[in-house]
Amino acid sequence: MTLDLAIRGGTVATASDTTRCDVGIKDGRIVQLADTIEGAAREIDATGMLVLPGGIDSHVHLDQSSGPGIKMADDFESGTRSAAIGGNTTVIPFAVQPRGHSLTESVANYHTKAEGNCFVDYGFHLIITDPTPAVLGQELPALVLDGYPSFKVFMTYDGLALTDRQLLEVFSVAKEHGALAMVHAEGYDSIKFMVDRLEREGKTAPYYHGVSRPGLVEREATHRAISHAELIGVPIMIVHVSGREAVEQIQWARQKGLTIYAETCPQYLVLTADDLKGLNMDMSGAKYVCSPPPRDATNQSAIWQALQQGVFQTFSSDHCPFRYDDDAGKTGPKARTSFRWVPNGIPGVAARLPILFSEGVSKGRISLNEFVALSATNHAKMYGLYPQKGSIMVGADADIAIWDPKKRVTITQDLMLDGCDYTPYEGIEVVGWPITTLLRGKVIADKGAIVGKKGDGAFLKRDVTRPI
Ligand SMILES: [Zn+2]
Repeated sequence: MTLDLAIRGGTVATASDTTRCDVGIKDGRIVQLADTIEGAAREIDATGMLVLPGGIDSHVHLDQSSGPGIKMADDFESGTRSAAIGGNTTVIPFAVQPRGHSLTESVANYHTKAEGNCFVDYGFHLIITDPTPAVLGQELPALVLDGYPSFKVFMTYDGLALTDRQLLEVFSVAKEHGALAMVHAEGYDSIKFMVDRLEREGKTAPYYHGVSRPGLVEREATHRAISHAELIGVPIMIVHVSGREAVEQIQWARQKGLTIYAETCPQYLVLTADDLKGLNMDMSGAKYVCSPPPRDATNQSAIWQALQQGVFQTFSSDHCPFRYDDDAGKTGPKARTSFRWVPNGIPGVAARLPILFSEGVSKGRISLNEFVALSATNHAKMYGLYPQKGSIMVGADADIAIWDPKKRVTITQDLMLDGCDYTPYEGIEVVGWPITTLLRGKVIADKGAIVGKKGDGAFLKRDVTRPI
């Protein structure tokens, strides 16, 4: 057997082990791990480098309709290009059901947007906004079995939020069919109340976005979601946990013996509410408007501690990009009137891994193996892609990111290769950078340039197995 490719001389790390070995690849899969592999058709010299599973980002929003006059900055082409340059080989974006529409038809629409346009492999989570009897009884169960075993539900946002009764209904379908519900936990009414009150007081700058949704609003919704999950007897995933209040609810639930999964994101490690002040409370604070909002240094420490204690299974970007200097983005005519109208979300699919690596591994807060688990392996296990994806082992897809653990880089927008015109992480210095990304054995990104082509990425049907 002649191998197609050997990655030689690197240090291979998985979620459990770190070892010096060569990696042999044939027909897009890893077929050999050995001290020395010779005679492959091609070789990549990885001396001094880390050979890690390609990142899996299980929380990205691409080409999602976001309201009248608003346009998301990334379609599937630019979003997955940015993912590839950031050391990722799989993303799981969302297929949103607009109210009044069929879920199945919505999934078909997102397939049309994605097909032939992706640089990395992709699956879809569903977003359920309208759990009609047809959705609950027929469409959702059929889609779960057909490769979409996870869906997101919202407890806030007009047009997206489900009522408590509706949450119970969808959780119950998740239980019956083995699906995983991902919950955006922030309380609808308390946020509405706060937004109205702040506007009445003339407090309309982007900074007040954070003030309108304090940690307790997230804590209350997290508790409510956990209680609903307990009533049904089903595991759920609390996504984008921002600080101490929500972390405490998750720990409380685990102590009770409930299976509650949790995710956090880079914005909760390196951004704070003060970033939303911009320059003297001007519109530039809009660059950091996302929900839940970044909090403060104490909450950042709480998130780090929770990462170290294993509270979080996954670390995702929640990439949800809107251009800043753009009428269809963060500074459109309506957005200028109040933070209420500033498109909610920030880019991060390319910055996610360097930030976690640098702040986590390079600074000694987490181990390299924990980094791999949080950035790839657990995503694959949680969302039905394991063992095809998420690890470096014989039989798995050769989805690999080769990292230089010593490389110093200052994050700037031009390195992100996305469709946005800014990065909220501009100027952050990191140590450790993904140099080469391989998707199923093919180099798709190398030394800051994309060498793959759109269409390299394939749709992944996922299954309901969740070995975690
Ligand atoms: Zn969300």
